[in-house]
Amino acid sequence: MPKAQETVLEIDLKALHHNFKYLKSKLQPNTKFLAVVKAFAYGSDAYEVANYLQKLGVDYFAVAYINEGVELRKSGITKPILVLHPLAVNFKKLIEFALEPSLYNAKILNEFISIASAEKQINYPVHIKFNTGLNRLGFWENDVDYVVSKVKATKTINVKSLFSHLAASEDLNERDFTLKQINNFKIIAEHFKTKIGYMPILHMSNTSGVLNYPEAHFDMIRSGIGLYGFGNSEKESTYLKPISSLKTVISQIHKIEKGESVGYNRAYKSDGSFTKTATLPLGHADGIGRHYGNGKGFVTIHGQKAPIIGNVCMDMIMVDVTNIDCKEGDEVIVFGEHSTAENLAETANTLSYELITSISQRVKRVFL
Ligand code: PLP
Repeated sequence: MPKAQETVLEIDLKALHHNFKYLKSKLQPNTKFLAVVKAFAYGSDAYEVANYLQKLGVDYFAVAYINEGVELRKSGITKPILVLHPLAVNFKKLIEFALEPSLYNAKILNEFISIASAEKQINYPVHIKFNTGLNRLGFWENDVDYVVSKVKATKTINVKSLFSHLAASEDLNERDFTLKQINNFKIIAEHFKTKIGYMPILHMSNTSGVLNYPEAHFDMIRSGIGLYGFGNSEKESTYLKPISSLKTVISQIHKIEKGESVGYNRAYKSDGSFTKTATLPLGHADGIGRHYGNGKGFVTIHGQKAPIIGNVCMDMIMVDVTNIDCKEGDEVIVFGEHSTAENLAETANTLSYELITSISQRVKRVFL
């Protein structure tokens, strides 16, 4: 593999293939696979990832917002795309690009019916979201009759799926709560079926649900983080392969003598001993936030850990390389080989989800 000469996010599509196969191996053969590709496919690249997964035979995609779906359609993604959090202001666009909305309360349901009917739509596929305990988005269990009455009163929409979202599927201490969510969802689905006369596609599981709760797989699962290489436990993470590696190079090396400081606010001060620092061309504008500074986060240079010292700047970080034999131009691994995004995220008390989705668009993506 050629050494990085600038800051790059390498995306390994073979690792994506591996993760897709691994997650699929946990499902019944006829369970559909929805790939969550919101937020630029968790900070990688929505189109390249979706296109690759489309070729591998994924059944469905999901994004958070309508504009994300529009971009996928414009670049040639043809599989159905569920928009998890659509806002009414963009409904005409959603229809124009054949995206499928999640409808989660009376307001958004009525707004969609009204706009879709003005656009002369018949049987437009929609997905009804029910809240079973996350308390974020979704109709309540006792809204079923209302939803059914609205659907029956119009030819504009067709309920393609019912879905819900697990609140703590990664936490086995919350098993009783999760089983209750699953059971509530079953009750909602049965009630819906009785009232409307057919059973839409049912889905509830995120990646941790796929791995921990086979009883929550229903007809389709929705996986995001697992595709990108992270599981809900160390054991599962060992079967998955992180698809992205963030690499950069050493721009400059400085020798800091006693009493000198490094970076803004003089946040790092030499404790009296000699320090060798390396300045790297990435900072909080690239997704390495200030919470990684002052000794928390680290990078790897020639297989050795180099802690981030001082405050993280917008376009630069400084790392301590006192004990590392390195020179300007040498490659630096921010995460990837040696240490994963999860390991780095933990140093700042956050999650791989946050770190990988924060890698900004100015970082060049390279596909392996
Ligand atoms: N379903 C919904 C509604 C989500 O919001 C998300 C992610 O946030 C997912 C599925 C995928 O979750 P995960 O990345 O944990 O697989």
